[in-house]
Amino acid sequence: PGSFDPVTCGHVDIIKRALKLTDHLIVAVANNYEKSPMFTLKERVKILKQATKGLKGVSVDSFDGLAVDYVKAKGARVMIRGLRMISDFEYEFQMALTNRKLSPDVETIFMTPSEEYSYISSKLIKEAASLGADISSFVPVFVQKAVKEKLNKNKSSRRYFNNYE
Ligand code: ADP
Repeated sequence: PGSFDPVTCGHVDIIKRALKLTDHLIVAVANNYEKSPMFTLKERVKILKQATKGLKGVSVDSFDGLAVDYVKAKGARVMIRGLRMISDFEYEFQMALTNRKLSPDVETIFMTPSEEYSYISSKLIKEAASLGADISSFVPVFVQKAVKEKLNKNKSSRRYFNNYE
């Protein structure tokens, strides 16, 4: 589960690694009302479907509310999250323990990406793109295009810089 706003090469790396552990992986996009996403839920799902096309055993879906409730509703037992840096650890640890309390039957597994992706975040690539950076080594090519289009559409791109979570 995640925001995937938008999907990056780091996410795709984790998805591919997770497929070594399971033959069916659901990549679930959270409809997170607290954040101000660059892409709508529908757009994020569409982009993720494109990014995971050709990966056997992957389906893309979205959910409202608690991730653990979604996991149970799907008859799944495990949630996979990526751990990039120590900075992710505190939040992810807190989240995993909260989820365990809410739903003792659901386990969280953490996976680390290849080191070349370990510093990439959706937030950073949006900020970099809004300031004119070339983000082609961080995201699939169609994501780069989608970000560019979105920024052009919303000329006041500084807004993203201030609002993104
Ligand atoms: P959320 O808002 O739920 O954190 P994100 O889309 O930012 O959603 O992240 C979803 C999951 O993907 C999280 O577990 C996050 O740590 C992981 N993730 C994000 N970027 C990377 C990356 N570059 N490498 C590995 N995992 C990542």
